[in-house]
Amino acid sequence: MPLNRRDFMKLGLGACLLPALGSSRAATLVSEEMYVFGTLVGVDVLAADSEAARAAIADVSHAFTQQNRDWHAWKPGALGDLNRALAAGRTHAVAADLLPLLHQARDLARASDGRFNPAIGKLVGLWGFHNDVLPVGGAPDATALFELVAAAPSMDDLVFDGNRVSSRNPQVQIDLGGHAKGVALNQALDRLAAHGYKNALVNLGGNLAVSGTRGDRPWRIGIRHPLGGRSDLRHPQGEGAIASLEVSGRMAVVTSGTYERYRQDGDRRYPHIIDPRSGQPATHVVSATVLHPDAARADVAATALVVAGSTAWPEVARSLGVREVMIVDEAGRVQLTPGMAAMVHFVAHPASVKIVELA
Ligand code: ADP
Ligand code: MG
Repeated sequence: MPLNRRDFMKLGLGACLLPALGSSRAATLVSEEMYVFGTLVGVDVLAADSEAARAAIADVSHAFTQQNRDWHAWKPGALGDLNRALAAGRTHAVAADLLPLLHQARDLARASDGRFNPAIGKLVGLWGFHNDVLPVGGAPDATALFELVAAAPSMDDLVFDGNRVSSRNPQVQIDLGGHAKGVALNQALDRLAAHGYKNALVNLGGNLAVSGTRGDRPWRIGIRHPLGGRSDLRHPQGEGAIASLEVSGRMAVVTSGTYERYRQDGDRRYPHIIDPRSGQPATHVVSATVLHPDAARADVAATALVVAGSTAWPEVARSLGVREVMIVDEAGRVQLTPGMAAMVHFVAHPASVKIVELA
């Protein structure tokens, strides 16, 4: 089936729902779009009664708005309150819906061997990414960068006493930008299921999670070509997909890329995913796609694998417990696991394709 280019242009995202031909008999697809988490969000639900489905989607949309406020890295909200307390060396009673994220983020940060490190909020802010507008100009002051890297803020610096949290390291500032959307995806599917909708697709800026099927067929998803837009915007591949895949049941397909948010300095781009050990943006791997039933784990893994780079990623994938992975590097070379290779159909021609066993 040819790619619907308009869909990719409209979404401009790492992945999107590819339109399927025909429609299901009993139920129809009820779709809504909203703007939240700084990105375009789409919810598709297979439903017989579209009014009831729209009410369920409105419930999900309301939850997204609350989550965006409560888990936001730099705007006022529950996480903002915690960050202010940590900066002042105070102990803070954390909101009930934020606490499990902190525990999970700490555990996944450990499993990623520090590639995923949501305690580097100050570093992310120093590079200028704590802003709705993309930063421009050269790298931040080298001394300031060096001092933050040397302070080595880590989730293991946090001290948990029930819901009371403090930090042993004053440089810790929490940024859940690489994790919260995955948690929100899981909760959105749970919420839709509680309303009785067990066939759904949720798309948070190219991070997707599905449940059930699209009626009589699986959900069909496109993974955006991370180099497409950069090489030639007018080329059909420009906003197009590198691959498509079909998923059903409870499954997430999350892509982290360096092509969407970056700091522009003349011809040079500094992407928004930062290697916590060097303090420098990760530039070698330009996108990582992870397939996993738990969208939160997939989200974290996708970010961690971009940081891990084209040699260390299999080791990090293994320790994070993700087996379906695809990596694209800056030269357009693809590496993927056997599990992922069995799922994807390439719709563009990668520079090379290598299948890597995780062992
Ligand atoms: P997106 O949000 O675009 O889908 P990611 O899931 O990869 O992309 O999250 C990137 C965000 O995570 C950054 O904007 C920043 O807020 C934060 N971040 C950057 N580097 C790291 C890192 N090494 N570990 C954890 N979070 C990071
Ligand atoms: Mg992520």
